[in-house]
Amino acid sequence: MSSAITGLKPEPVWKHFAKILTIPHCSGNEKAIGDYVISVAEGLGLPWKRDKVGNVVVSKPAASGREGAVGAILQGHLDMVCEKNSGTEHDFKKDPIRAAIKGEWVHAEGTTLGADNGIGLAAALAVMEDKTLVHGPMEFLFTVDEETGLTGANKIPKGFLAGKMLLNLDSEDEGTFTIGCAGGADSTLVLPLERKKAASRNLYRLHLQGFRGGHSGIDINEGRGNAIKLLARMLGQARATGFELVGLDGGSKHNAIPREAFAVLSCPPAKARAMKAALQKAFDKISVEYKAVEPEARFTLEPVEGREPALLKDSGHRLIDLLLAIPHGVVAMHPEIAGLVETSTNLAIVKTGKKELEVLCSTRSSVASALEATRDVLKAVCALAGARADLRDGYPGWMPDLASPLLKKLKEVYERAFAKQAEIVAVHAGLECGIIGEKFPGMDMISFGPTIKNPHSPEERVHVGSVEKFWAFLTAALDELSR
Ligand SMILES: [Zn+2]
Repeated sequence: MSSAITGLKPEPVWKHFAKILTIPHCSGNEKAIGDYVISVAEGLGLPWKRDKVGNVVVSKPAASGREGAVGAILQGHLDMVCEKNSGTEHDFKKDPIRAAIKGEWVHAEGTTLGADNGIGLAAALAVMEDKTLVHGPMEFLFTVDEETGLTGANKIPKGFLAGKMLLNLDSEDEGTFTIGCAGGADSTLVLPLERKKAASRNLYRLHLQGFRGGHSGIDINEGRGNAIKLLARMLGQARATGFELVGLDGGSKHNAIPREAFAVLSCPPAKARAMKAALQKAFDKISVEYKAVEPEARFTLEPVEGREPALLKDSGHRLIDLLLAIPHGVVAMHPEIAGLVETSTNLAIVKTGKKELEVLCSTRSSVASALEATRDVLKAVCALAGARADLRDGYPGWMPDLASPLLKKLKEVYERAFAKQAEIVAVHAGLECGIIGEKFPGMDMISFGPTIKNPHSPEERVHVGSVEKFWAFLTAALDELSR
């Protein structure tokens, strides 16, 4: 039972977290937990609003003497990722999450815990309730459906918030401040294809697989191989042997680095040996180059039954050249924040149809103009190849502002409280702050939280001591920010 955690400190935070555990709140099902937030606000006589999609904002007046301070917003998301181990009996629509304590950590039994973002919500509710805290005018923003696409943040109506600074409580490393994130946008590149009239025989399936893949934002700087790019490279290096290309396919998700790709080739028996040797030679180079990061990379080349109309020679070459020319990987590192990828692009999915090749690229940057410039490169490659580019609207990033007054004050508070410096980071993925910042220009924002390991999986756990520090820091920060 969740009562296991109610004796933990700080008591007001764990009390609300214990309650949150009893309310089902997977993404898309936030009505009941929103009702809980509202019931706490009403119990305190605080005004609240709920928008059409279910985002809730509660206002709390300033402590006496701090009425003139700049308004601060505490923000978290109402939803959680619902995952369970196979073999765990759990109905996320009605069963409470069963929390347990193990050493210094709280985890759930066989399911995600929802400390992401339940601890942030619980802390916001505890601040809302506490009449002894010193702070300026406050708002508490609870968003829906962060986890499946930031849709709650996307739908916040204009004028929903009055505050000018926002403390997002959805970070997972105590002692770390997040001050930026990437925006992103997908582009589809379409290359018209021309095929022979007659179907070719002597078909082979070339399959390149065993790559690690990973998240196209978080893992893009790990130097992992992109199976599509590398398959195009093998075909490019072996093309002089005279095979015909029927098609090339690979990748599965816009936000994943492709782990495998395959091509269908047609090759007359007299040239088959040379083709195999050339492909092997090309692969051997890749295998040496990537031996540290991609030890499982491998390819197979197998004859397949049937006949297919192959691409005309020019068309096949153009397909290979296009895939070779499309950029993939890190485009730029941030000039001031060590280790942060500023701009990247992922060649994510390739599909060959009868008449067209479709390539999906997913581009990210914390700098809007750099995102645009990288998409201009994709457009230029298309123009050179005789392909067309369909650039869809993306979501905004959050450009790190190392000169932010909010950051400066919170760094001081942290150092005073714990006699060490907070680490300043930004992430190369989308966060709610990116969207909120675009809707409310001039909003000074920062994100921090307790230490949570393995969120979004049944291994999720939150460090008890870090919750205590998180609370101490949050309350001291609200005091300082209202001075
Ligand atoms: Zn979260």
